[in-house]
Amino acid sequence: MSVFKYNRICLFAMFAFWFSLTAQGAVSHVLHITVDGLGGYQIKGYLETNAASFPNFKRLQSEGACTFNARCDYDYSETVPNHVTVLTARPVEQPAGITNLVRHGYSANSSGATTIHNYVNPTFYKASTMDVVHDNGLKVAIFLGKTKLAVCTNSYNNVNGAQDLIGEDNGKQKYDLAKIDSSSPPLLAVMTNLLATNPPNYLFFHFVEPDTVGHSYKWNTPQWSNSIVTVDNWLGQIFRIIDSSPILSNDTAIVLCADHGGGGDDNGLHMNPTRLLNYTIPIFVKGPGFEPGSDLYQYFSNRFDPGTERPEQGGVPQPLHNGDTGNIALMLLGLPEIPDSYWRPQYVGISQNIAIEILKSNNRLILRWLPQSGYLPVFSESLTGDWSVITNQIQNNGTYNYIEVIPNYQLNSGFYRLRKN
Ligand SMILES: [Zn+2]
Repeated sequence: MSVFKYNRICLFAMFAFWFSLTAQGAVSHVLHITVDGLGGYQIKGYLETNAASFPNFKRLQSEGACTFNARCDYDYSETVPNHVTVLTARPVEQPAGITNLVRHGYSANSSGATTIHNYVNPTFYKASTMDVVHDNGLKVAIFLGKTKLAVCTNSYNNVNGAQDLIGEDNGKQKYDLAKIDSSSPPLLAVMTNLLATNPPNYLFFHFVEPDTVGHSYKWNTPQWSNSIVTVDNWLGQIFRIIDSSPILSNDTAIVLCADHGGGGDDNGLHMNPTRLLNYTIPIFVKGPGFEPGSDLYQYFSNRFDPGTERPEQGGVPQPLHNGDTGNIALMLLGLPEIPDSYWRPQYVGISQNIAIEILKSNNRLILRWLPQSGYLPVFSESLTGDWSVITNQIQNNGTYNYIEVIPNYQLNSGFYRLRKN
């Protein structure tokens, strides 16, 4: 028991050190992918029982971090509102107790003459992932598999996009290439050619088929699981291009999520946002700073696994949301977060030249770290449990801040890490 506990603590100390090593490890290319209607429970089940039919989703899981228990938007489990959330890192509606300058407000599951910025009052510009990439002088391409998603590009074209005030003026249009169609193959043909010949830094791709097949045949039917096999094959095409490209291999991250799940409605569809199968979605992140085969929840100090619950959006901490994936994609590119965005998962250790070390001293442990303003150790009995801040046992020996811990061998495990206060 005592050896087990000690190993768990040491392992976590190595994690903390490794975070600091990869803090500078941004990549030059990120693929930000949505799979329309990919329910967390369905893909989890397929990978557990029939992984051989889904080798590329399996590869994302085994070479990166993932969760099958993230959330779509609290109020809407439909395509357009959630894609706006994914791109802007804002909830659709105003979270309780929080200013209405937080929501994006685009609740329509369609595109009209309006933009994301002027759909509801108060009207104001809502920046997207594309703004940050473009304004920092990098290249953006976006591929959308539903024509009603056009609001996601119309809002950021050379009329409706904001002025580029960062560095060189790259123009108001926030993307270098945008293509919209009603199915993946025509988009994929252009996208894979672009990836192989002139890859953008930020490539957003929406796979529509699981949703259209779900609406025709319902979720989790043989037809539906076949549509996931099809998407898996397309992911395989993308992997082959990345693997064989000296520009892309080892310099490309993938962030994949769903806009919403499905199969939770009484009629087998996905419109009711209060239903478990509709609001539960997966998120896969493959890139530097994310350990192969790990749980995505362990990387963020302000995110927790909600079990089967659907926590309201104003509380703290929050589950991971599809709205978190935009800022994760930007982090992987070494870029700042979307200005004024709401969904901001706090990656533990990123850009922090700080590590917690654990030393053995007689029958006690010394946890030490270099003093740096605003960091405190936190403790939890499990990686997905509550973290409590340790404030009153901190000592300083001139070089290090440290705390002494006398292990309690009645406990199975204990975890320490540093968190911004
Ligand atoms: Zn959808």
